[in-house]
Amino acid sequence: MLGGIEFGGTKTVCVVGERGGVTDEIRFPTGDDPAANLERCVAFFAGAGDVTAVGVGAFGPCDPDPRSPGYGTITTTPKPGWAGCDVLGVLSQGLPGAVLAFDTDVNVAALGELVHGAGRGLQSLLYLTIGTGIGGGLVCEGQLVHGMMHPEMGHIRIARPPGEVAAFGGVCPYHGDCFEGVAAGPALAARWGDPAQDITPADDRHGAMWDLEAAYLAAALHNYVCTVSPQRIVVGGGVGENPDLLVRTRPLLHESLAGYVDQPALRSPDYVVTPALGNRSGAIGALELAYRALVEQSLPRQQTPGAAARQADAL
Ligand code: ZN
Repeated sequence: MLGGIEFGGTKTVCVVGERGGVTDEIRFPTGDDPAANLERCVAFFAGAGDVTAVGVGAFGPCDPDPRSPGYGTITTTPKPGWAGCDVLGVLSQGLPGAVLAFDTDVNVAALGELVHGAGRGLQSLLYLTIGTGIGGGLVCEGQLVHGMMHPEMGHIRIARPPGEVAAFGGVCPYHGDCFEGVAAGPALAARWGDPAQDITPADDRHGAMWDLEAAYLAAALHNYVCTVSPQRIVVGGGVGENPDLLVRTRPLLHESLAGYVDQPALRSPDYVVTPALGNRSGAIGALELAYRALVEQSLPRQQTPGAAARQADAL
């Protein structure tokens, strides 16, 4: 049996199951006491039976580099209590014998969607979540992308309408009007005076709010298309999974790219989509991460992680 954990900023989800399928789960607030949280995770897996591997997707910033001494640690997160928490260290003590793997929450969701959801059959997929924050995960040629740390796709700079620059300075405590600073849930509430869900279609602000949100999303997607060339983009999260947002965004993305990136896939409504796995992208992805770790561990030492990914795909 495989296990998975999705540490979100507000809630934690623990699941057990097999590749592509959850058989049991618990959800509880992530809270500001990591020791209590991790104890609850360990108790769930211990009670579930023979869990051979656990994949972990965590909010960040965190250390997803298996070669680093800090692998599996939440690093500089502003979330109270969690900075410096050695998540994988605590889990390895509580679950001796289980193979563990750790990555960002959004990378894990990208992996879930690539293998079992909207990206089945593809090799490259970008998963973006727009909710209380904005984050993006990337699988490229079947490999989860980390680089120096991990991408922070919510904090890119995007083009803004000149009038908006003067009207709203953004809410990111680090960058002001980065993408997250103008387009995540708290930014919408600050810009429009109410949370997005309270601004209904009957409200005069509704059309303008979603048109602006779509313009920001299209600007961000333009940058992602041009820098990492994903074969598909999945947009989730409380704000992002609104299908009306994607209907408004697709033509703006086309317009922005101006025919320079001219691929048939880009013209399809299936290029930018909502998650096929619904709210299970992260959970299914965490199980897949666990599965990949098991496969990788079974390979001879000289084989590369790329070989593990290809073997996992072949199975
Ligand atoms: Zn920022």
